[in-house]
Amino acid sequence: MGDEGAPRTAGKTAPDPQQLADEVLSGSRTALSRAITLVESTRADHRAAARVLLTALSSSATTAVRVGITGVPGVGKSTFVEALGKELTSHGHRVGVLAVDPSSARTGGSVLGDKTRMPELAANPAAYIRPSPTAGTLGGVARATAQTITVLEGGGYDVVLVETVGVGQSETTVAGMVDSFLLLGLARSGDQLQGIKKGVLEIADVVAINKADGDRVTEAKAAARDLAGALRLVRGGDGAWRPPVLTCSGLTGDGVAGVWKALLKHRDFLGAEGLAEKRAGQRWELTWALVRDELEQRLRRSPSVVAAAGRLRQEVLADVTPAPSAADVLLRAFDED
Ligand code: GDP
Repeated sequence: MGDEGAPRTAGKTAPDPQQLADEVLSGSRTALSRAITLVESTRADHRAAARVLLTALSSSATTAVRVGITGVPGVGKSTFVEALGKELTSHGHRVGVLAVDPSSARTGGSVLGDKTRMPELAANPAAYIRPSPTAGTLGGVARATAQTITVLEGGGYDVVLVETVGVGQSETTVAGMVDSFLLLGLARSGDQLQGIKKGVLEIADVVAINKADGDRVTEAKAAARDLAGALRLVRGGDGAWRPPVLTCSGLTGDGVAGVWKALLKHRDFLGAEGLAEKRAGQRWELTWALVRDELEQRLRRSPSVVAAAGRLRQEVLADVTPAPSAADVLLRAFDED
């Protein structure tokens, strides 16, 4: 992915980052959008400016609540976020909504973060919805998202919701950026659970069976009970947090406040010290994620690697050169570049 693949261009010249930071801190929505565009850009001069911007903003350390939300497409994430956003803003919170969408990174089409999915919240002055960057690697999108969280907090948003579809590594990536992680699931006829992968259950702090409305309430409650039982076997030993399994309906709003309460309870469980420790660990993880992403980009751009790869590909495909030898040649080409 070359520089041309920047998610959005932030203009020909990078804006003055210090001035932009001041405007973001003073609450300007236009500056906020420009700042996010800047941190999403992969252009070298934009990235340098973004670093200055982020340094200026992160000094305004906040205690914003960062929550990740995942679930398969159709589980009701956008409807839920709309309901939760409405609830939170009505209590005076300012809510930022972001998306990490690996499908958009691959195909250029965004499943998440589209403002039209949350029409009421999009029109709410106390909320800010940012669609997912539509280009780049998952690593690149994650970098942009982590930095966008800092920008939003600088802009005075005290709740940041990061939404992701449960595809590949995206939920682990998001779990590494937030304080608490919510998994939305569905009940199906009988006690089967739909669209919940085991790996996600291991990182969820709160689970909610969604669409518990109308004639689906009973089966949702039964599914929640079963799942809570199953979770007790794998999670929550020896003073560890035991993820509660609740039911809710984003459509009617039933149970949405309860889910929020459970998320805050998880945050309380961490305590000030635990939260600080968690965030410190996340910053160090992010540091390495950024290094890996940058290395991968450099690797792809390296003229020597590109030249050697053209020839090697045929040899590896024809089974003339073994993969480990080909890898050695590519790494040497990179080192020599
Ligand atoms: P997402 O893909 O996870 O963001 O799901 P959406 O929020 O777009 O919802 C997918 C479909 O389920 C839409 O047709 C919604 O109207 C419907 N839906 C969402 N939440 C609920 C809910 O709580 N109850 C019911 N009955 N339907 C819902």
